Amino acid sequence: MIKRFFSYYAPYKGLFALDFGSAVVAGLLELAFPLAVAYFIDRLLPQGEFSIVLLAGAALLAIYAINAVLHAIVNYFGHVLGVSIETDMRRQAFDHLQKLSFRFFDNHKTGHLITHVTKDLEDVGEVAHHGPEDMFLAVMTFIGAFILMFVTNWQLASITVIVVPVMTWLVSKYGSQMTLNWQELFGRVGEFNTRVEDSIGGIRVVKAFANEPHESRLFEGNNQAYRATKLRAYAIMTASITITYLSTRLVQLLVMLAGAWLVVGGELTYGGFVSFLLLVDVFMRPIDKITSVLESYPKGIAGFRRFTNLIDTEPDIADRSNAQVVSRLSGDIVFENVSFAYDTGRTVLEGIDLAIKAGETVAIVGPSGAGKTTLCALLPRFYDVSAGAISIDGIDIRDMTQTSLRSQIGIVQQDVFLFGGSLRENIAYGLLGASDEAIMDAARRARLDTVIARLPAGLDTMVGERGVKLSGGQKQRVAIARIFLKNPPILVLDEATSALDTATELAIQQSLAELSKGRTTLVIAHRLATIQHADRIVVVDETGIVEAGPHAELLARDGAYAHLHRAQFGGLAQPV
Ligand code: ADP
Ligand code: MG
Repeated sequence: MIKRFFSYYAPYKGLFALDFGSAVVAGLLELAFPLAVAYFIDRLLPQGEFSIVLLAGAALLAIYAINAVLHAIVNYFGHVLGVSIETDMRRQAFDHLQKLSFRFFDNHKTGHLITHVTKDLEDVGEVAHHGPEDMFLAVMTFIGAFILMFVTNWQLASITVIVVPVMTWLVSKYGSQMTLNWQELFGRVGEFNTRVEDSIGGIRVVKAFANEPHESRLFEGNNQAYRATKLRAYAIMTASITITYLSTRLVQLLVMLAGAWLVVGGELTYGGFVSFLLLVDVFMRPIDKITSVLESYPKGIAGFRRFTNLIDTEPDIADRSNAQVVSRLSGDIVFENVSFAYDTGRTVLEGIDLAIKAGETVAIVGPSGAGKTTLCALLPRFYDVSAGAISIDGIDIRDMTQTSLRSQIGIVQQDVFLFGGSLRENIAYGLLGASDEAIMDAARRARLDTVIARLPAGLDTMVGERGVKLSGGQKQRVAIARIFLKNPPILVLDEATSALDTATELAIQQSLAELSKGRTTLVIAHRLATIQHADRIVVVDETGIVEAGPHAELLARDGAYAHLHRAQFGGLAQPV
């Protein structure tokens, strides 16, 4: 773990050396100071010359100046180092999150993931800002002062030793407890964020049901749990601070009395006495530091552990080493004996065989929950099949790179996600860096041009969460424009128009028909009127594919499709 933490220092060796070197010199100065004072009192002062006092003042000034510079270096560059490391880790965490698959996001709460990238790394950064230097310095001055105390006067030094077992006991008793506590606290912050995200994200539903008090109650549950964990952490900290304070002051008092007794008995010089008291101070300072270390280190360790857990999570869908980059596939899709189960374990698809010829339009109909969306999610490898294989143009999709595979597939779903930004940026999401003409052309083909003409700032109108609200139909047109721009050979329409009113649906259908021209199209719809012109209709239910064929043929067969059709059209055969 420690080795891994330090691996993040590798790019900043020079900075670390500067920082560390300054810390060591500052530590040595701190140790030398009491000895210099003893020399001054016992040797120089008795000479009775006033110039010596001036000289000592000048020397002191020089020491302070050097110390100030050293501390400035440690403070500033230590933070530069810490912030750089924090930035590197945050980038790595975010990039890794982007790589993880749908399965991971199914199983993790957004609030927790946000905490990983924000709060956790802040705490790790807190340790990285001159933490290791501080730690080394503390140990160095502690041991150094200890040795010097024994050299100066072993009787007095023996008194200070009693503080060592107290400290050892404290660190071993509270250290691990604190780490656990901070870890728990991190979990609480994650729960917190998830709660807020849920309540705020769903605020319109909350208000519609007038359930604000219910949400507040749920939130207060998290709030109190957080409070309890935090209070426990601070109780531990207070106990350790108090024990540290009392034991160190007790030692100081004993040293003072015993030292005075030795001076009176002529066994210790005045200089030796003063220097010893200063040494005790140098010796005790790192001990005081232990309490602050008890706060920041366990926090940092807990944060770092969560960070490494995240980046060690292997994406369950990854490119094979020999994966090929495909482009301009013609779109011959074959599902061969495909089975699939989500993490819940229940088999959703079993033994699906389906071949779709390039350019063909195949509709999939069936009851909700039958697995239609799941089937479509397997094609771009959002999930991998549990058994069987899917191939495009005869190549197993697992032998293609994910990026190139997905570049060949356009998906329009029921919910269109608009990013915060301009309409232009939202359309260009289909092809980053597309020219203005290409964007306008795609918009025209998606019949967005009339919408754009009416918007206050045209293509530059801000949409998304805090922008102009587009209607459901307009959002679908943005999704369609994205795909026109992307221009993939394969198209998946998953209930693209199901949420729209009939008139809007009809209008969008025309754009979709145009979009699917010359592309292999997989269309899922529950309004049968929208898919009766498909080359083939595949009827599925929980058991798998029930029947398949063109509209007229399936009607004539009077099976599942004809049954569904009657249910929707009240028995009146729809003119084709
Ligand atoms: P359809 O699109 O035909 O309505 P889906 O493919 O969405 O059906 O869902 C098929 C089954 O898989 C349902 O029982 C659903 O509850 C389940 N399911 C869908 N998505 C997930 C998921 N991400 N994790 C676990 N189960 C899921
Ligand atoms: Mg669905």
